[in-house]
Amino acid sequence: MLSVRTGLIRHCGKDGEELKETPAAYFGADLKRIVSEAYNVERPNASIPIHFIRTKGGVAVIGAATIRPSSLTARVEERNLHVLVFARHLTPRLVTNLSKIYRIDGLALNSERDKKKLNVPLTDVSGRNIAFLSWPSKLPGSRSFLAVRTQLAVGCAILALFLAAIGVVGFVIIRKLREDEARSRHKALHDSLTGLSNRAALVEHLQGAVERADGSFIYLYLVDLDGFKGVNDTWGHAAGDSLLVAVAHKLRAELPPHALIARLGGDEFAIVTVGDRQLLEETDISESIQRVVSAEFALHGRLIQVGGSAGVSGAKDIDTQVGELMRTADVALYQAKDLGRGRTVIYEQALDAKRREQAILEHQLRRTLTRDGIDVHYQPLVDADSFAIRGVEALARWNSATLGTVRPDIFIPLAEKAGLIDTLGMQVIEKAVAATAQWGRIEVCVNVSPLQLQDQNFVRRVAATLDKAGFDPSRLTLEITEGVLIARPEHAHRAIDALKSLGVKIALDDFGIGYASIGALRKFGFDRMKIDKSLVSELEVDRKAPGIFQATVALANALEIPVTAEGIETNSQALIARHCGCDLLQGYLFSQPVTAEEISVQYFNVTQDSVSTDAEEFLPTSSAARSTKAVATSVDANI
Ligand code: C2E
Ligand code: MG
Ligand code: MG
Repeated sequence: MLSVRTGLIRHCGKDGEELKETPAAYFGADLKRIVSEAYNVERPNASIPIHFIRTKGGVAVIGAATIRPSSLTARVEERNLHVLVFARHLTPRLVTNLSKIYRIDGLALNSERDKKKLNVPLTDVSGRNIAFLSWPSKLPGSRSFLAVRTQLAVGCAILALFLAAIGVVGFVIIRKLREDEARSRHKALHDSLTGLSNRAALVEHLQGAVERADGSFIYLYLVDLDGFKGVNDTWGHAAGDSLLVAVAHKLRAELPPHALIARLGGDEFAIVTVGDRQLLEETDISESIQRVVSAEFALHGRLIQVGGSAGVSGAKDIDTQVGELMRTADVALYQAKDLGRGRTVIYEQALDAKRREQAILEHQLRRTLTRDGIDVHYQPLVDADSFAIRGVEALARWNSATLGTVRPDIFIPLAEKAGLIDTLGMQVIEKAVAATAQWGRIEVCVNVSPLQLQDQNFVRRVAATLDKAGFDPSRLTLEITEGVLIARPEHAHRAIDALKSLGVKIALDDFGIGYASIGALRKFGFDRMKIDKSLVSELEVDRKAPGIFQATVALANALEIPVTAEGIETNSQALIARHCGCDLLQGYLFSQPVTAEEISVQYFNVTQDSVSTDAEEFLPTSSAARSTKAVATSVDANI
């Protein structure tokens, strides 16, 4: 059996054993002609060509047939077909048998025409006589030359039938092979979990559309589920798998039948539409995608809802390169995630420039971190009554030699995305612990990213840092945002418990801008709550704001959880916050975040090199800090 496309021999056997030489050497040049006669694309039902051939083993009858699918649905590309070739030698034994069956005594196979006998020529694929079956004319079998000719024709037909029989056996084998091939092809092109196409099928589909080049427009959508990891972590992998299957089914049900839907792995899906640009744009695929991914799915006895981000890129088939289309759709997807997820972004060239900028920024941040180059500034937390300093919040600062000052709301999310947040976070903790060690017993607050809490080693590393610096754990407060409580509640609980068992305190940062409830404060055992500065800034703007603010603080206080108000910029904000029950205040009214050196000088009258006192409480001493005192006096005067 040999491949039509490559001419490669898949198998070649003789008398049940592998043929020792190449078929071309054994059969000669005629083999090629017989094979190409058998492979006739125009006539799929063409009959099997049967000829005689001279091989190294003698004269043989040879037949060849192309193996084609038996049903119209099983489409196999012409170039992937195989040709099956059978040959049987006209051995002396076979000739004797023919002689007996047809009662032609003296039947013999000769290479030349025997002029004294009756002869039937055996012709090859070119119609040349390569041998003769001859027999004596006087013998009974030769009574009628015509009759013998007919019988010989019958003999040849029997040979053909014999070949056909072998063909049937071969066909059964081949059909099985073909079914296996179809099965493995299906497997190779489909995702086993969802039954959707896989990445290979997607690429093949895109490649096909590009090669057809019939003026169609190609759109590629890449879709990523938001919060899928949370489903896996919270409800287990079985729930995650069920969600993927449910999303796949819903995509199939909601998207037009001509759309190819693929799962590329994990929670990433892709959709391809090919056709008339205007018609494609009329069917709003983006909207359907968003509807599907944000739907509620009833799985494992609960309702699960995630969301999804999508990136889309489109081009005319002749302008399309599959790799480029995938890249641009991916850039758009990245942007959709960057913009806060739950949306679809269409690729445009400006996104490339943005991505390059991000790459440069990430590279620089990586370099800065390897050189321990992130600075830490400190912002005082002051007592709401006396305005004496009670603590500081450590805030990461990045002054890049090439990029200038980069804001934390740029580089912290970047560090999270680039997997650098663990390193950055630990550097901040280490620096904060070292810098504040000699500031008496004031509290040191350090922000911790939700991703840091997911790091198995985080608690151990914090313990080691405190231990090494001889820092009292009860002076350290780690500020976490609610994101961690929602994404991985059990995990957050464990990490918080472990940190608390070290003696470290945990504060809930930025309360009021998300979904976290006062109940969460109790459930997770927070030691403190920080009201977000956006609520503070509303105090003087919105009439209802002070009431809401007061109720929030009162609820926390009822649970014996102290509250810090951040972002205090005016006297009245400080006044209201104090009256509402906040015990600590933080904001520009008191001080901007400043260097450790400035805090030391302003509040503790020491430089970082000299050793401080063990005073219980510190009051501002420098001119900047004296102005804090003045604020206190003016606030008191207003009461
Ligand atoms: P945050 O933890 O809520 O920190 C308070 C932010 O409010 C700081 O911004 C601070 O400079 C600013 N702020 C303080 N007082 C006032 C005020 O009176 N008015 C206004 N408008 N703003 C005030 P910053 O330093 O830009 O930090 C922004 C955020 O970046 C922080 O918010 C925190 O979530 C994050 N961050 C900073 N450093 C780190 C860090 O080391 N690790 C982690 N994971 N996040 C950090
Ligand atoms: Mg904070
Ligand atoms: Mg905050």
